[in-house]
Amino acid sequence: MLDETRIRLEAIHYVRGLRERWVAVPASELRQFKGVFLKGQQGIFKPAELSDPLSITSTIDSPYTDDPIEGSRVMYDFAPGADGLKRCAEAELPLIYFLQVKRKPNPEYVIFAPVYVVGWDEATQRFLIDLAEQKPGETMSAPPTTRQLTLPAIRTPESPMEIREMSKSYVVTTVQRRLYHARFRNAVLKAYRDRCAVCGLRVRALLDAAFVVADRDPQPAISVRDGIALCATHHRAFDAHILTFDDEYRIHIELPERFEAGEGERAMLLAFSGKTLELPNDEELWPAVD
Ligand SMILES: [Zn+2]
Repeated sequence: MLDETRIRLEAIHYVRGLRERWVAVPASELRQFKGVFLKGQQGIFKPAELSDPLSITSTIDSPYTDDPIEGSRVMYDFAPGADGLKRCAEAELPLIYFLQVKRKPNPEYVIFAPVYVVGWDEATQRFLIDLAEQKPGETMSAPPTTRQLTLPAIRTPESPMEIREMSKSYVVTTVQRRLYHARFRNAVLKAYRDRCAVCGLRVRALLDAAFVVADRDPQPAISVRDGIALCATHHRAFDAHILTFDDEYRIHIELPERFEAGEGERAMLLAFSGKTLELPNDEELWPAVD
């Protein structure tokens, strides 16, 4: 039993480490950890080493989740493994939630861990899962003095007003922001065919979706025009205003006077000065210029 707890906690620690390095984690990084498989193709997954499920994988075309995330909570239909998930809810076992943001080939996932199943409803055959990465009751209210044997009934927001109230809280914003950034990056990189708009570098792991607009808070809909695909170096140069572009999408490089770089580095950066950005085929997706 202790071993099972350790496996579970180490797996959660491992995936949390991965997301420090990736906005969305490639499936290739998620096969296994110390020989323990972390996830299935989709749905509720229990590795051979554990008695209860370890993770839930929600795919873009999942038959089990079609609901948007409201606040920090998502509904999940009863699926194979549902009994195990009920045990996780009763024992308040921490789980990993993999939310797919990029389709095959080479799918990518936003990871929430630890997450908890906070309730289920037999009538609608659905679980309620909180992605806020906090044990239920830990922040919302004081823990009950007696062990609750029955789970609280599912409570979903009843009005848009109520959803707005919920979305004010910090945890909700964090959940929404992480999802938004991952989806934004995916949409922008897709439009730019996984290439840096300046140098054409085609290594997805080294590409960012840089914001060209000031407001970086999650928007109701993702607009590719709010961003531009840049490699890590050109992203930094853009944020530092060393690299800019005009309304005809011509690149300008301006090195600060005290820029400490050798001739080679200067030449490397200045090489793109005066060239035109490599933009998506669809003009509607070109970055916003004011
Ligand atoms: Zn570049």
